[in-house]
Amino acid sequence: MIHVEEHKDPQQNLKSESFLLPKKLYLPISQHVGAPSKLLVKKGDEVNEGDMIADVNGFVSAALHAPASGKITEIKTISHPSLKQSQGIVLNCQHQQKQDSPRKNIEELTSEQLIEIVKNSGIVGMGGAAFPTHVKLKPPKEISTLIINGCECEPYLACDCRLMIEKIKEIFAGIDIIRKLINPKEIIFAVENNKPEAIKKINLAISTKKIGLSNVRLAIVESAYPQGGEKQLIKAVTAKEVPPAGLPFDVGCLVFNVATCFAIYEAVHFSKPLIERLVSFAGDALVKPKNVWIKIGTTLKELFDSKVLEFKVSPKVIVSGGPMMGVALTGLNFPILKGTGGFLFLANTSKVDESVCLKCARCVDVCSMNLLPLEYSKLVKNNEFDSLDDFNINDCIECGCCAYSCPAKIPIVHYIKVGKACKPKK
Ligand code: SF4
Ligand code: SF4
Repeated sequence: MIHVEEHKDPQQNLKSESFLLPKKLYLPISQHVGAPSKLLVKKGDEVNEGDMIADVNGFVSAALHAPASGKITEIKTISHPSLKQSQGIVLNCQHQQKQDSPRKNIEELTSEQLIEIVKNSGIVGMGGAAFPTHVKLKPPKEISTLIINGCECEPYLACDCRLMIEKIKEIFAGIDIIRKLINPKEIIFAVENNKPEAIKKINLAISTKKIGLSNVRLAIVESAYPQGGEKQLIKAVTAKEVPPAGLPFDVGCLVFNVATCFAIYEAVHFSKPLIERLVSFAGDALVKPKNVWIKIGTTLKELFDSKVLEFKVSPKVIVSGGPMMGVALTGLNFPILKGTGGFLFLANTSKVDESVCLKCARCVDVCSMNLLPLEYSKLVKNNEFDSLDDFNINDCIECGCCAYSCPAKIPIVHYIKVGKACKPKK
């Protein structure tokens, strides 16, 4: 773990705003881990807000829904923040606003029905991983500890913090649904100690017992990076270590991000699929940072065209996500995806050239997965992709601690991404 400059102010204190009337939406069918969704619409089709426009396509996959009513104008390759390109749907919005109608008899729904609702709502992990939630809700092993992840350890991002401050009751209602499905012995709500207002809200909700959950406790963890990584968080709050190449259920744990809990609540209580989310916008190139509710598929360009966001100065770097794990973008023609928690617009950055490895081992000392990061850059530079698995490259969570700490400024995570893409598939 490392301590990085947090840059959480003023975002954590900015009340959320809404921009729910985009003109056009760009919806990649790959917004999640697993197989791209299967198209259900074609050019010229009229759709209503919330209609499923692409279905799950295999065991690990997620459905996609129309975030607004309108007409499908194109099915084409569109820019994707991390995949570079993906097939997708272009929707011209007409905005016949749909009213949320509460679902009746929620208590009578069976586990199978609840999981089907989550599946048919296209929910994925919203902390960035974008793993389909309906798959995660059927763990192959017994779960003793359900961990709710409110850490949000990436610098600059504050959308989870705002969600906890503004929607804590709804988050707990989502947690209650997860509890019914996996029946854990205990629920740990984990938050970093740099979110006092969110902590107050959680404490109040737990102590007044209005949430109807008895086996939940708050764990305030140190603000460090990457505290919100699943394996790091499990160790911090349960002292259990997920084995190399293992998953949280191997140690009886499941971890859900707070925004995912909120999405589950909306799906079950209001039949609302995942069509919008809270997103943080930050960085010194902006006139004002913001936390904004946005329809999935809205482009950054439309947010600037409509003056929701404004540049003070031209940014040198635009990043989808935070500075540690984010992806640098080439412009504003990128859509907001289900797993996108924020964007950074930085004016004051200087390019530093990498030099030779000093063999100082700082990258090894800070690696959150106990790996040997210096080996990855060496092997990739020498095109020795076959040897990467000898150093368990797949265990790397691409947290960026190694590159951040490297005095030679070696972009180790870049080499790791290249290595993962080029190594022989097993
Ligand atoms: S090797 Fe991977 S897990 Fe280890 S510090 Fe670097 S990016 Fe993080
Ligand atoms: S931190 Fe950088 S310079 Fe030091 S051993 Fe790792 S890769 Fe080499």
